[in-house]
Amino acid sequence: MIKLSAISKNYQTDKVQTRALDNINLQVRAGEFVSIMGPSGCGKSTLLNIIGLLDRPASGQIEINGQLLGKYSDSQVAKLRNQTFGFIFQSFHLINELRVIDNVELPLLYRKMPAAERRAKAKAALEKVGLTARMEHFPNQLSGGQQQRVAIARAMVGEPQILLADEPTGNLDSQMGAEVMSQLLALNQAGTTIVMVTHNEQEAKHSNRIVRVFDGQLVQ
Ligand code: ADP
Ligand code: ADP
Repeated sequence: MIKLSAISKNYQTDKVQTRALDNINLQVRAGEFVSIMGPSGCGKSTLLNIIGLLDRPASGQIEINGQLLGKYSDSQVAKLRNQTFGFIFQSFHLINELRVIDNVELPLLYRKMPAAERRAKAKAALEKVGLTARMEHFPNQLSGGQQQRVAIARAMVGEPQILLADEPTGNLDSQMGAEVMSQLLALNQAGTTIVMVTHNEQEAKHSNRIVRVFDGQLVQ
């Protein structure tokens, strides 16, 4: 489903160049749940952002569902990203000025879906994460665990094939973290491919495979 070949990425700040990723080869099959682990600064977020087409590599090839992206324009890449991936982040990234239901509808708004259909799909997504009763609340009226479940509903409302999660439980206590993990496992069992960055070995044990990164390289 995802194939990265010889991916490298540098960041240039002032006169310092950082090699964030160095010759990464990685394949993720449909239906897998892969965890990415490694010390802070080793390149995990960069790798996840490249897989999710949020960022482009300096060199190497990316193949998504058999399509090589090399010659894709920015707008073709954006379209493929929106069709293929859902994202969740450590800090939730909900819009605090919008009610929960409106947050979940956002990706569908960008797709120009009619309002009634948007509302129905957003309600269904919130029902799956057990938050129908909080639909009219604002994000800051919810616990961290509930906010992350809203973010999961928003990520999944457009029915992406692949969910990318960057330390999804990093800001949550262990009980809320466990609730979020059980939502992710349920999604994976229902067929969604998941790639998750985590620092938590216990969480990673729930996945099918652990990929370890050190200094921009895959070491295991
Ligand atoms: P991790 O997610 O494992 O903590 P990152 O992928 O965030 O690691 O970062 C990998 C390396 O790239 C680090 O050395 C980091 O400081 C550097 N880096 C990440 N993003 C940027 C950026 N936007 N500009 C400059 N350097 C960056
Ligand atoms: P942190 O670990 O500091 O909380 P996040 O996990 O929130 O960081 O974000 C990880 C990366 O994804 C960052 O480089 C951020 O700029 C990027 N990012 C966050 N939200 C979005 C978004 N909605 N769309 C695109 N990129 C995003």
